[in-house]
Parts: sequence; C-alpha cells; structure tokens
Amino acid sequence: GLPKLSTNTYLDRRNALDNTIESPSRENATILMLVRNWELDGALKSMRSLEDRFNGKYHYDWTFLNDVPFENAFIEATTAMASGRTAYGLIPPSDWNRPDTVDEEDFENCLQLMEEKGVIYGGSRSYRNMCRFNSGYFFRQKLLDNYQYYFRVEPDVEYYCDFPYDPFKLLREQRKKYGFVISMYEYEDTIPTLWDAVEDFMADNSDVVDMTDNLYQFITDDSVIGKDAPIIQSNSAYNLCHFWSNFEVGDLSFFRSDEYLKYFEALDARGGFYYERWGDAPVHSIAVALLLKPSEVIHFDQIGYYHVPFGTCPAAHDMRLHLRCLCDPTMEENIDIQPHSCLVRWWKCGSGKFFMQNA
Ligand code: GDP
Ligand code: MN
Repeated sequence: GLPKLSTNTYLDRRNALDNTIESPSRENATILMLVRNWELDGALKSMRSLEDRFNGKYHYDWTFLNDVPFENAFIEATTAMASGRTAYGLIPPSDWNRPDTVDEEDFENCLQLMEEKGVIYGGSRSYRNMCRFNSGYFFRQKLLDNYQYYFRVEPDVEYYCDFPYDPFKLLREQRKKYGFVISMYEYEDTIPTLWDAVEDFMADNSDVVDMTDNLYQFITDDSVIGKDAPIIQSNSAYNLCHFWSNFEVGDLSFFRSDEYLKYFEALDARGGFYYERWGDAPVHSIAVALLLKPSEVIHFDQIGYYHVPFGTCPAAHDMRLHLRCLCDPTMEENIDIQPHSCLVRWWKCGSGKFFMQNA
C-alpha cells in the first residue's frame, strides 16, 4: 500500500519540491486565508480551484491564519492540497479580541438592537472581531512580515477561469497596489456612522489625502453619474460602493503605511467595528479610494470568480474559451449585470480617465 505520510513529511516534501519543480519566476507574495478549523472542506475546495486555475503553475506559498490553533487534520489536508509551501499562524489575542476601550454594556445593547433589526451578522461577536482584524491587523501578522504582496482567499469560493496572468506580477510591473474583481453597494445599516468618522479623518489629515489624484469620485455621489444615479440611496455623501474584499490582491506596504495606520486608528477609536458592524470591505475600499492614486487600483476583468451569492464572468466569448471558463455572463449570480453593481461607476470614475479629461 501507499506509505503513510505524516504532516511533517508533507512539509518536507513541499520544501524539497520548491527547489526542484520548474515554474515561472515568482513574486514576493503569498496566498492568504483566514479560516476556522471546521471550514476545512470549504478551504480545500477554494484551494483546489485556485491551484487548478492559477497556482499549480507557480507554487506560491499559502499562509493560513486563525484565532485558535489549527488542528493537525487541517494542516495535513491543506498542506497536501497546496502546490507551494504552507504556513500556519495563530493570531495574538490582542490583534483579535474586542479592545477594552469598547464599553461592554453599550456593545451588548448594540448587538441586540442590530440582531432585532435583522442586520446581516448584526448579532455576531466573532464576525466583528474578524472584520476589525481584516481591517487593521492581518498585515501585521509575523508570518506576512517578509512578503510584499498577498492574495486573499476565503473558504468555498470558486475561480471560474484559468488566470490569464500572474496577478502578483501584474501588480509589480504596473505599479498597482490593490486589485479587485467585484464592486457593489454596502448595506447601510452596518455602517451608519462610518462616513462621519472618515470625514473627520479627512479633515484632520488633508496633507495625506490628495483630492486631485484619488478615487473620491468613485465612492461619493456627484454630478458625474447624473442620470445613471444608482437605485441605492445613501444617507451620507458616501455612495456605499466598495470592493468585495473576499477577493483581494494587494500590496502589503499600502496597509503598513503610516497613512493607512492613521486611518485605521481614527476609525477604530470610534468603536464602530463593535457598536455598529463595520465591514473590512468598506473600510479597505474607502482607504483605497482616498489614499491611492486611481492608476494604482486595478479591476481584474478577466478573472472569473464566485463567492456566495455573487459571481463575475469575463464578458468576451473568445476570452471564456481561451481561459476555459466554467461560467456564463448572463447567469443570475453575475453581479456585473445587476443594478447594485458599482462597475458602471468604476468605468466612469475609476480608471483615471475622468480626471485626465477634466484636467
Ligand atoms: P462572509 O463572507 O461575509 O459571509 O463571512 P465569512 O464567514 O466567509 O468570513 C470571512 C472570512 O473570515 C472567511 O475566510 C472566514 O473563514 C473567516 N472567519 C470568519 N469568522 C472567523 C473566526 O471567528 N475565526 C477565524 N479563524 N476565521 C473567521
Ligand atoms: Mn465568505
């Protein structure tokens, strides 16, 4: 029969493989998954898909993070599924748990109110820890210290097509700092006062927010959109557009920058990650829009992707054949053809063309 391999044998074998397998040159990058032990099946499905569609050719490292220790069964199966090296990190409690600056009683009241209101994940404590961690702490984890780029992956996602390029390489060559595939409107009930906090940050930090060369137009309502005004109406200047953060390819140096850290601290001081239910997606997206140049953000429009309940599928028939896609752009789940997609806004204000034409 087959020899029984221990986890360590797998790890050793991967490390050996690393030096022998022929693969295109790699960037300084890792694929990153925050995940719970019980999500192993979903983690493996995502890995299988990404390995088949992209990483099998490159063998980038996989980094797994968890707020509790990973079980051996999780380590063994994910290491066996990976074509690159794997590493498993335990998040320090201080990077994960609710800070004691958040008032316990107020917090409990907010939880209950949001639960009653039917806000998605409104009554969940752990979801709030997760969102705050992804907003302010993932890039500070030791295991990421030596990487420049990360590719965020979640359990139970699918990549519909072969990747047409190495997204890490594209980021470096084109000097991009952040890449996304899906953009849509956020549920306002999760972030009633987020924009107030952002406005205060902008007022206090006008030196780091360059309004002449950022994506402010993309995330605020203005005359540019005009008759194409969205069906979603917000109560603030923030139009609720955000990049869906379950898929992200980004430059860690952006999140590690003084500007981003200042931004996160300003938001965190409000307690909105707990008193409300601020998601890491709008938090990342607003930072990307305010602090980066439009030319530093890329929409990967040739990558097919699905995370329940939405997907995106390359529009061009030839492209889908070439990339062996398993998706249909007319599918109901295709967010890009729905009114609550922000893609039209992106095309109008996101590429940087708007600013050049109006310069
Ligand atoms: P959704 O995509 O907004 O529905 O939220 P998910 O349940 O998919 O959570 C987002 C990501 O955070 C996924 O990668 C989850 O595996 C991970 N995650 C969520 N909650 C926890 C948690 O309490 N502990 C750990 N380790 N990971 C979590
Ligand atoms: Mn998810």
